[in-house]
Amino acid sequence: MNRRIYNFSAGPAVLPEDVLKIASQEMLNYQNSGMSVMEMSHRSAVYQSIFDEAEADLRTLMGIPENYRVLFLQGGATLQFSMVPINLMKHGKADYIITGTWAKKAFKEAQKFLDAKAIASSEDEGFKRIPNLDGLQIREDADYVHICENNTIAGTAFQRLPETHGKPLVSDMSSSILSKPIDVSAYGMIYAGAQKNVGPAGVTIVIIRKDLIREDLDPKTPLMLRYDTHDKANSMHNTPPTYPIYVCGLVFKWLLDLGGLSAIHAINLEKAALLYDFLDQSSLFKGTVDPKDRSIMNVCFTTGNPDLDQAFVKASKASGFENLKGHRSVGGMRASIYNAMPVEAVKALVSFMQTFESETKGV
Ligand SMILES: *Cc1c(COP(=O)(O)O)cnc(C)c1O
Repeated sequence: MNRRIYNFSAGPAVLPEDVLKIASQEMLNYQNSGMSVMEMSHRSAVYQSIFDEAEADLRTLMGIPENYRVLFLQGGATLQFSMVPINLMKHGKADYIITGTWAKKAFKEAQKFLDAKAIASSEDEGFKRIPNLDGLQIREDADYVHICENNTIAGTAFQRLPETHGKPLVSDMSSSILSKPIDVSAYGMIYAGAQKNVGPAGVTIVIIRKDLIREDLDPKTPLMLRYDTHDKANSMHNTPPTYPIYVCGLVFKWLLDLGGLSAIHAINLEKAALLYDFLDQSSLFKGTVDPKDRSIMNVCFTTGNPDLDQAFVKASKASGFENLKGHRSVGGMRASIYNAMPVEAVKALVSFMQTFESETKGV
């Protein structure tokens, strides 16, 4: 293939072509430094300015208040499944809302460290919707409430946040961070692996309210697993993932140039509507989740016939649409249409689906 294809991967995922072009232009000699960003000391002035700009641009984009710390860590969102309970534990209790595979993994990991309770779950409905959030029984002494805001595998998303009665809300936003404007102050902490909607794999963004960063942890807690270590060292207790942070910084600038998160949100809504409107009238394909809880990032659908699904995935691949196969735990298809996925790609996919549908009729 001598051209770029339409890559609907759930992650690592498509990046803005303009960002890749800048990264390639700067590959050998970053802004007359005489070296690639990959080759720079993380303690150098030139790298420090890349890092500081990335943080400042992320703060501008998301409107992150002064009393929140931004950390660039490693270990993926998965390490946060452990770091959250280790660091936020006071009474030793935390409440989890189980909306999918990742939420459940976070919950299971937390159970190792504290009394984690599933206060709502849609597992018995195959995670096809977000459970009813009215009258949630949050424990009086819960240290935090954990949600996975966009369920990458099932294709659902929270449409409103749960009422946590003052308990810090911790959100895994790995597949939805920067997809729309949010009120950061509604959260105690937000975390996201970069490789879905932000940048390359290797960096995890943590946004945490400063008063939740504790120093009185069990002294045996490994230094790398403590937010206070990374807070004090400005994310440079050890070598940070320098190149991924640089690319994330380019993506932040790309978003700012587009007009920020409300601008990208409008584009994301347009892309999602193209697909869902098609699915809602299709005689062959149907969406797999409750329409009220649909994700605008991960669109899951099926023909209802596994053989036909397989044939569709094969045909789509042959036409330049990659990674449309659904997660192995769900089956069917999934189109991940993150920020960097152009509207034309979604239009091309819908048109391909229309053709496939008409060719399949009467077979
Ligand atoms: C991909 C994903 C994870 C796991 O991320 P890693 O960075 O691979 O650890 C966790 N949560 C959600 C919502 C995800 O989409």
